[in-house]
Amino acid sequence: MRLSRYFLPVLKETPAEAQIVSHRLMLRAGMIKQASAGIYSWLPLGFRVLRNIERIVHEEQQRAGHIPMLMPTLQPADLWRESGRYEAYGEELLRVRDRHDRDMLYGPTNEEMITDIFRSHVSSYKDLPLTLYHIQWKFRDEIRPRFGVMRGREFLMKDGYNFDVSKEAALHAYNRHLVSYLRTYERMGLQAIPMRADGGPIGGDYTHEFLVLAETGESEVFYDAEITDLRFGEREVDYDDVAECQAVLEEFTSRYARTDETHDAALFNQIPEARRRVARGIEVGQIFYFGTKYSDAMGATVQTADGGKVPVHMGSHGIGVSRLMGAIIEASHDDKGIIWPEAVTPFHCGIVNLRQGDAGTDAACAELYTALKAKGLDPLYDDREERAGAKFATMDLIGLPWRITVGPRGLDKGVVELTCRKTGESEEMTAETAVSRVA
Ligand code: ATP
Ligand code: MG
Ligand code: MG
Ligand code: MG
Repeated sequence: MRLSRYFLPVLKETPAEAQIVSHRLMLRAGMIKQASAGIYSWLPLGFRVLRNIERIVHEEQQRAGHIPMLMPTLQPADLWRESGRYEAYGEELLRVRDRHDRDMLYGPTNEEMITDIFRSHVSSYKDLPLTLYHIQWKFRDEIRPRFGVMRGREFLMKDGYNFDVSKEAALHAYNRHLVSYLRTYERMGLQAIPMRADGGPIGGDYTHEFLVLAETGESEVFYDAEITDLRFGEREVDYDDVAECQAVLEEFTSRYARTDETHDAALFNQIPEARRRVARGIEVGQIFYFGTKYSDAMGATVQTADGGKVPVHMGSHGIGVSRLMGAIIEASHDDKGIIWPEAVTPFHCGIVNLRQGDAGTDAACAELYTALKAKGLDPLYDDREERAGAKFATMDLIGLPWRITVGPRGLDKGVVELTCRKTGESEEMTAETAVSRVA
């Protein structure tokens, strides 16, 4: 992409309404624009990152054997009357009425709708296990939308639902989700710690939240410092292997790690004092096993091998896709701007032409652009007639992992300059070497 033809409305001033760094940087980098409280337009740069986060979530869900689909944002109230949540959900539920006076709602989550799909089409244990998921916009009329996309009213969520014949089988699905979530967050360059949590309006006793430690996080968390040494890493997990998934769950949940909702001071105090941590975290996902709560209420049953009929065991599993963008920025920035992890960066590399209009630099930049493209990478070429300082500031703000700077003086020596956004280190080398160094 050539910057002169792109739409990147960067802001010079720091927006006064933004209280935390990720919100400030997303506004300044021209990634989002507020439409109304807690509702945002995703401008081209923000949209690219959102799509990258989504892609990783899709890949990891499908690696775990979960099946993608898409349910609508608007749901009929009658389904929610069946579960009892139409009244119980409270003010966060946006209720709307259509022209025929039918009650509808903008889905804050999809347990009822997926249970309805299940009961319409599945009646035998032979069709289980089954896990369906989608990535769709949700609406929750949050009392205090804030921190940009971190606590929006309209936000993008991956929500998945498992259907199993027994509690035991459903707990394997729970473990599978835990494993796939660990992989998902690590691929985005994040450490998200599974912590014992509270069921809330979804219900259920088995539940973990995934928290990214950050001072600006809205949750208070208590944990054993040892837990931050754990990494999922490159290991291959067989998602059908019950014992293997269970072992990962045990490894990642055996140390004390809880949110304030489930915190137990007496247990916490049993950890050696030097390892006790009280901090703040951002909830980027949550997994639940809630058994037959919805299948009982909505009559979703399956025939068992011995001819009996049992309510299906379910769980639901969410990832805050749009919130993750804020969490990644909170975890990875400096005073100049964002520092994107390679996996989600909107462009892989910036090209800065120090003398736009000069035949030599223009040609060298065009060549670099083509070479990067040929490697399957997406460069962003700053071909505007701007001062070098302004171009560098924009590149630093939008946080691309690499910048290649091309100027007449370097070209005379046969070199360009490669700069790593993370370390700030610059090195001169041939254009060819620079291309090979960009991931
Ligand atoms: P919170 O405690 O932050 O209100 P929640 O527990 O109500 O979140 P869940 O029902 O667990 O949310 O939804 C799954 C995921 O969706 C959350 O872990 C979070 O990452 C994301 N999410 C929830 N509410 C919002 C929101 N208002 N804006 C952006 N993301 C959200
Ligand atoms: Mg909430
Ligand atoms: Mg929560
Ligand atoms: Mg939650």
